[in-house]
Amino acid sequence: MPAESTSPLLVEYCDDCDRWVHPAAGECRTCGGRLVARPVSGRGTVFTYTVNHHPYNPEIPVPYVIAIVELAEQSGLRVAANIVDCEPDSVTCGMAVDIRPDKGAGGAPLFAPASN
Ligand SMILES: [Zn+2]
Repeated sequence: MPAESTSPLLVEYCDDCDRWVHPAAGECRTCGGRLVARPVSGRGTVFTYTVNHHPYNPEIPVPYVIAIVELAEQSGLRVAANIVDCEPDSVTCGMAVDIRPDKGAGGAPLFAPASN
């Protein structure tokens, strides 16, 4: 895999603790230090998910997958996302996913099944 330098996902990071902090709290919950938004690799695994069949947003065709993705950067670092480019029925917990360069209609990050 080539290095990905244009990840669309930024996560707050504490240089002092060498830890990612999400959701962003304005300052580090551990040391109170300043957080800096850094791009993450965009690789992760599906921690849990649900298939939504209700058209809450007319711009998003149903059914679609709402997932909590645990990012590869740090254990427990999880973001809400949509899983695309696959059948909703094919999504499983623990499935490897990669972030997509675009964002969903609702502004959520989009992940697709990892290509390898
Ligand atoms: Zn800290």
